[in-house]
Amino acid sequence: MRVHRLSTVFLVLLLAISAAQTLAADIPRHDFPRVGAYEVLCGDFHMHTINSDGRLTTRERVEEAHSFGYDVIAITEHGTLRNYRTAKYIGESLGMVILPGFETGVHNNEHYVVLGVPPSYKPRDSHHWAKKWAKSKGGKTALYQDEMRDIAAVGGILFYAHPHRGFRSPTDWGIKQGVIGGIEVQNRYGHIDRGKGLEKFGDTWCYPFAFDWALKYNLALFANSDVHDPRKKGDQPITLVFVTSRTQGGVMEAIRTRRTLAWFNGMVWGREELLSALVEAAVTVKRATDGRLRIENRSPIRLKGTLPVTGTAIELPPYEEVALYGIGNSDPVVIKWENLWTSPKTNLESTFLVVSAHP
Ligand SMILES: [Zn+2]
Ligand SMILES: [Zn+2]
Repeated sequence: MRVHRLSTVFLVLLLAISAAQTLAADIPRHDFPRVGAYEVLCGDFHMHTINSDGRLTTRERVEEAHSFGYDVIAITEHGTLRNYRTAKYIGESLGMVILPGFETGVHNNEHYVVLGVPPSYKPRDSHHWAKKWAKSKGGKTALYQDEMRDIAAVGGILFYAHPHRGFRSPTDWGIKQGVIGGIEVQNRYGHIDRGKGLEKFGDTWCYPFAFDWALKYNLALFANSDVHDPRKKGDQPITLVFVTSRTQGGVMEAIRTRRTLAWFNGMVWGREELLSALVEAAVTVKRATDGRLRIENRSPIRLKGTLPVTGTAIELPPYEEVALYGIGNSDPVVIKWENLWTSPKTNLESTFLVVSAHP
C-alpha cells in the first residue's frame, strides 16, 4: 500500500511539473535586456471581466494575460475594485504584478482608468461624474473635480482611456492638477468604434493626436487592450514600463515619472530619450573579420529600418542577428527606424559605434 501511495504522489507531482512546463512553454518570449537602471516589463492596464461587462472570470483573465506574456496588469472594471484581491492572489502566484484599478469617467463622455488606489477605495460615483453642479442631479452624481481630488488624495493616478471625446475641460483640469498622468494612444477594443475619433496611422486605427498631447502635456503613453471577450491570438497591445523594481510600487513610480512606451501593431511610440535608450541597450552593431556588418537584436520587438548612408533596408527579427554585405567601412553606423516613432511625424534615428565581432 505504501508503495502504491508513494507512486500516486509521484505521479501527481509529475503531472503538476509537466503542466507547469506546458504553461511556461506556451508563453511567448518577451524579455528585454536591462536599460541602464531599469528592467522593462510588458503591461496591460485596461481590461474587463464578468465583474463588469467582460466575458471571462477574474481567474481566466489573469491566466490569459500571463499566457500572452504580460508581466504586469490591472483589471479595470467599471466603477469597482471588487475582484482586485482575487486577481492579485492569482497573478502573484504566476509571478505577475497586479495593480489595483478601475474604470470611471464623466457621464456619457470621457472614460478614465484609475490606478494605484488602495483596494478598499470606494468611488462615490461609478461612472457618471458631472462636469457642472447643474448637471449633478442635485448632488446625486459627483463633480469630476471632487472625484479626481479624492483619487489623488489616496495615492491614485488616472489616465485618459480611448480619448475619442477630445481634449475638454475635465482632462485639462486633471492634467493641471497632476491627477491625470497618462493617455491611451492605442485601445484595441476601441477598434469597434472606428470613426469615433479614431484615426488611421498606416494600417492601424489608433489615437495619433493623443501622442501629440502626451508630448505636449508630459503624459505617460499607454497601449492597452481594454479586452472584454477572450483575447484573439496574435499581436497584443503592450505598454512597456521601465521599472527600478518589479513591484506595484515600482510600476506606479515608473508611470508617475512617465517611463512608458506604447508597443502595438508592430510599432513602438514614445519619448525620444526612453526609446533611444531601449534601442541602444537592445541593438549591437558588429564588424566581422570578413567586413560584413552583424546587427544583433536582443529584444522581442521586430525592428525595421534603413541605413540612410546606403539606403539599405534592414529588418531585425526578435532575438536574432542579421548580417549585411556591402555597407563599406562606415563607423559609426546610423539607422533610421521606420517602426519606432518619437512623435506622429518623426522616427527614431540611432547612431551605433561599430564593435569588432569575434567569429
Ligand atoms: Zn471605456
Ligand atoms: Zn474599458
